[in-house]
Amino acid sequence: MRNRRAIPLIVYLILLVVVFSWAGDLFNDSMNQLPYSTVVDLIRSQQVKKLEVQDGVLTMELYIAIDGENTIRSALANPESFQEQMGQLLQEQHEAGILEYYHFYPEEEFSPYELILPLVLAGLVLLFVWAMFMSRANSNNPLQNFGKARTVLGVPDGKKVTFADVAGADEEKEELQEVVDFLRNPEKFTQIGARIPHGMLLVGPPGTGKTLLARAVAGEADVQFLSISGSDFVEMYVGVGASRVRDLFEQAKKIAPAIIFIDEIDAVGRKRGSGLGGGHDEKEQTLNQLLVEMDGFARTEGVIVLAATNRPDILDPALLRPGRFDRQIHVGRPDVKGREEILKVHAKDKRLDATVNLKTVARATTGFTGADLSNLLNEAAIMAARDSRPVLTMEDLNEALMKITAGPAKKSRVQIRKDLRETAIHEAGHAVAMYHLPTHDPVRHITIIPRGQSLGSTWSLPRDDSFNMTRNQMYEQIVSLLGGRVAEALFLGDISVGASNDIDRATKLAKDMVARYGMCEKLGTVSYLDGGEVFIGRDYQTTKSYSEKYAGTIDDEVKALIDKAYEHCVKILSENREKLHAIVDYLLEKESMTGEQFEAIMEGREAGETSATAMFDGFEEEKTEE
Ligand code: ADP
Ligand code: MG
Ligand code: ZN
Repeated sequence: MRNRRAIPLIVYLILLVVVFSWAGDLFNDSMNQLPYSTVVDLIRSQQVKKLEVQDGVLTMELYIAIDGENTIRSALANPESFQEQMGQLLQEQHEAGILEYYHFYPEEEFSPYELILPLVLAGLVLLFVWAMFMSRANSNNPLQNFGKARTVLGVPDGKKVTFADVAGADEEKEELQEVVDFLRNPEKFTQIGARIPHGMLLVGPPGTGKTLLARAVAGEADVQFLSISGSDFVEMYVGVGASRVRDLFEQAKKIAPAIIFIDEIDAVGRKRGSGLGGGHDEKEQTLNQLLVEMDGFARTEGVIVLAATNRPDILDPALLRPGRFDRQIHVGRPDVKGREEILKVHAKDKRLDATVNLKTVARATTGFTGADLSNLLNEAAIMAARDSRPVLTMEDLNEALMKITAGPAKKSRVQIRKDLRETAIHEAGHAVAMYHLPTHDPVRHITIIPRGQSLGSTWSLPRDDSFNMTRNQMYEQIVSLLGGRVAEALFLGDISVGASNDIDRATKLAKDMVARYGMCEKLGTVSYLDGGEVFIGRDYQTTKSYSEKYAGTIDDEVKALIDKAYEHCVKILSENREKLHAIVDYLLEKESMTGEQFEAIMEGREAGETSATAMFDGFEEEKTEE
């Protein structure tokens, strides 16, 4: 690689030198531009000793120097007429012995190469520079790869992935084992006429390991892995998507047995006839081609299509019918055990301090996906490396967890004392409200060190894997979200914009309770909000499916719910005025506190030592009440 680049560079330099010396030759002679009349005068006044004319340049040696120069050169506009005019005189002077020597070199036939050669060289140099650019941007050259499927053959980093690399996800692996068996031994299935699914759809939130699972299937079955992303089909040129699909299946059949993996299939497989913006025709052509190809190959050909999406709801129904992606495998967020196993997999290549307990970390990271956990360990490792520590500690993991959930600490952003007090009151408001709400997750950590977007933060990560939320829980969530604003109103006498994010979230929750989940008596168990059109992967507009008659009621009910929560919060905080101020004083002094310290103050005990692993405090022991 290095040599290949070094040689052209030398060639390039040589060419450059040649061109420059050429140009130099043409222009470097600084000639004395004597006027023609002066030249004639010099000859007539018999001052010239020697004279010659070559290539339109007149060179004379004089008897008496002009400006200290004995030899004078001058360009002749028309050497022929000079020879005609002066030839006679020069002849006479030569015979008289005045002019020792004179000579007219024959006029050289002007060669066109002299003019063309520099141009050719310059062209070559340009061509070469262009070629260097193109070779670097080769893969992006649209002319070369037009209509070719941009697949990655084999595993991108060349490392074979197997099921052992996918931690947890036991049910998913079990379902995929069938695919592995088929690819390994298709006859076993076809002999008894079993129908193996053409395609399987991996469905789940981002980062749960869908791509990883697909790679692992290929690794387990030891077959080729053709991977392409749905967005690769979508191009600005009409027809390219469809031809890429064709190309992809052709490639797969050639190298069968193989797995075709279409990542983010929703980019191309969206419901036809819907969507905002232009370009439907192109997308539909591509999708149609995909359907045709999936129907077209025989089951014995040993090609299985896997696809991944986090939005199965927006896929075209034709894709999901039997014979196409008729199997869906749900890849969910891992539970405690799964999280611990994933952490173990990713901790393999890292050096952990003896104090690091991955079980504790797993318990404290409810809701995290595999990608989140891998990121957590990586952030912690970066922190250890930055401080040049050989092993990563529980403190690193604590800081990494805080950074991931609330953004990095901004120690340099100094808050003035007044702001600090406002922030402390706001955060204490959240925390005290949480403490007095029975269904609310306990406070884990409070800080008035700015992080990410916020000036302070109060964490209350859930203690167990609960995937459901009751009306009461949602309501209490709203109350605690309002805690910051209520504390400001009660104890500062003024309110700030610091609560705007809290208010947004509280309002959204209230709206969902009223209009989506049917949790309000007046409106009944009716969902008034549709999923809405999905555009570029997000809900672009939520279509309302309610009449004007209910529009006002929905707004009224949302407001009533928030008002009720607000009053509830006012009651909690005004009854706990002293406690709240004790928390504020502690925060102003120490900047952060752990959940245990917070609880100690709330219970009127002495707040113990500050902990550097606050996010994990209370998660060490196995919960016994179960
Ligand atoms: P998805 O395709 O579902 O968005 P990926 O398969 O790309 O997620 O996962 C991203 C990364 O997260 C993987 O490269 C891997 O490091 C990690 N990961 C996710 N799930 C697991 C798992 N079950 N076991 C080990 N690592 C996982
Ligand atoms: Mg993926
Ligand atoms: Zn807040």
